[in-house]
Amino acid sequence: MDNAGIADRLEAFASLLELSEANPYTIRAYRRAAETVRGAALPVAGLVAAGRVRELRGIGPGIEARLRELVETGSIAELAELERELAPGLVGLGRYLGLTARRSVEIARALGVRTPEELREAAAAGRLRTVPGVGPKLEARVLEALAREGDPRPRRGLLLNRARELVGGIAAALGGEPAGDPRRWRDSCERLAVVCAAPDPRPPLERFAALPQIVAVVEQAERRAIGVTVDGLPVELTVAEPERFGTALVRATGSHAYVEALEPLPDAPTEAAVYRALGVPFCPPELREQPFRSEPPALVEPGEIRGDLHCHSTWSDGRASIEEMARAARELGYEYLAICDHTPAVGAVPGLTAGDVRRQAEEIAAANGRLAPFRVLRGIECDILPDGRLDLPDDVLAELDWVQASVHGGQRMPRREMTRRVVEALRNPYVRCLSHPTGRIIDRRPENALDLERVFEVALEQGVALEVNGLAPRLDLSGEHVREAVRAGVPIVCSTDAHSARGLGNLELAVRTARRGWATAADVLNTRPLEALRTV
Ligand SMILES: [Zn+2]
Ligand SMILES: [Zn+2]
Repeated sequence: MDNAGIADRLEAFASLLELSEANPYTIRAYRRAAETVRGAALPVAGLVAAGRVRELRGIGPGIEARLRELVETGSIAELAELERELAPGLVGLGRYLGLTARRSVEIARALGVRTPEELREAAAAGRLRTVPGVGPKLEARVLEALAREGDPRPRRGLLLNRARELVGGIAAALGGEPAGDPRRWRDSCERLAVVCAAPDPRPPLERFAALPQIVAVVEQAERRAIGVTVDGLPVELTVAEPERFGTALVRATGSHAYVEALEPLPDAPTEAAVYRALGVPFCPPELREQPFRSEPPALVEPGEIRGDLHCHSTWSDGRASIEEMARAARELGYEYLAICDHTPAVGAVPGLTAGDVRRQAEEIAAANGRLAPFRVLRGIECDILPDGRLDLPDDVLAELDWVQASVHGGQRMPRREMTRRVVEALRNPYVRCLSHPTGRIIDRRPENALDLERVFEVALEQGVALEVNGLAPRLDLSGEHVREAVRAGVPIVCSTDAHSARGLGNLELAVRTARRGWATAADVLNTRPLEALRTV
C-alpha cells in the first residue's frame, strides 16, 4: 500500500468519525496524520513495519495501531464497521444533493433506506416530506438536484490541488486521463471528469464504481457514469471507443464555450489528431476558456523556472530551516531561492525585526558557503502598513536581495485608500515584487478593493513585478489578472509561498496559472538567471 492509499484510508476514517459525531480532536488528528502520510518522503508502510512510524509528525500510539492494522491486513476493522453503519454512499449522495451528512443519515434512517438508489426512489415517490423536519422547500430542492444529474456540478468549487489529486488518482486507477476543469488548471474546479478508452465499456465502469474515492454512482449510461465522493463531489467518467478517445478528451476537458465553437468535432483517437483534422493548431488546455482557433503563443513551461522567490523558514511561520529549504530548492534543479519571512506587523505569526533580519543574514551566508554555486537570497515578505509605509526601515530593506511587499491586515479598506496604500509601497525603491496582489482567498475572501490598472501602471514605472502566488487557496494573481498584467507589460513572478520543503514542489500551480494568463517565459522574471534578475 503506497502513501497516497494509506492517506486516503485515514481520510475516509476521519470523514466517517465525523459522521458518527466522534471527538473533534480525534477527527482532526486523523486528518493531520493523513496529510503527514501523504507528504512523507519514505514509504510509510515500511516505517510501520520497522516500528518507526511515530517519528512522523502527529502520529501517536492510537494512530500507529490503526496504521499497523491497515498495513498488515489491508483494512481497518472499525472503518469497515462505520461504513456499514453509516452508508457513505448515502452521505455522498446527500451532500451532492445539498444535505448535511447528519441530515442524510437521519433521512435514510427515517425512510428505512440503505442505498442511494432507494433514497432516489423514496424521493421520487414523494416520501421525503414524511420525514420529520423535511419541509416542502427542502424536498423541492432535493428533487430539483436529482433532476439535473445529467449536468452535475458541486455546490461549490474544489481547490485546484485537491481537484487534480482527485481526478488524477481516479484516472490513474482506470488507466485514463484527467479532464474537466482540473486539466485546464482552473483555480476553483466544478467540472471533474476522467476519460478512458476501451472497446468494451463495462470493465472500466465497474472499476470506477468500486474505487475507494467513489461512494455512489448516481447516473450510468452505456459509456458514461457519474459517481460522487463522500464529500458529495460529482465525477464524470467517459469510456470512449479507442478510435474516438481524442474527441471525448477534448469534449470532457472543456470549457463548454471553447468546445462549442470547435464543433462539429471529428472522431479521432488522440487530441492531436482532432486538431489536425480540424485544421486548427493544438491548443494547450490552459487556454481553452474562450473560443480560440489561432496559433497559441509559446507559454512559459514549469521547467523554465530557475528559482523560487517567495518562501518561509522557521524564522517566521515556516516548518523547515533555511538550509533545508535551500537544499530542497537545489534538488528541484533551481539556481536560487529567496527566503522571505514575515515582518512584525503580520500579527498572527512571528515576524522579523531589523535585528532579526541581520542575524538571519549570518545563517544565510553560512548556507551559501555550503551550497554554492546555488544561491540563497536574503529576502523579506514585508508588510505594507495601512498608510502605505513598509514595516521595516529603508536602510534594512536596502541590504536585502529581494523584497516582497504584502498587504495582510486591514484588507477591507475602500478602493481609493487601498490603491493609495499599495501604490505608496510600490514607490519604495527597494520593493521588487508585490505578493498576492488582490488578497483573495478562493471561496472565502473576495479580492481587495484595488484599482489594478493603477497598480500595473505604477509597477511598470517602478520596475516592480507582480506575483502569481502558488498557494492553492490564493492563486493570486489569477489567470485573468495575469493576462491584464502581461498586456500592460508588467513582469510576473511565479512563486510558491512555501512554508515547508515539500511546499516548494507546488510551483507548477503558479506556472499553470500564469499560462492561463497567456504568459511566456519572457514575461516571467524568475525564468531568468540570477544576474539578470538583479539588474531588472
Ligand atoms: Zn503573505
Ligand atoms: Zn508568504
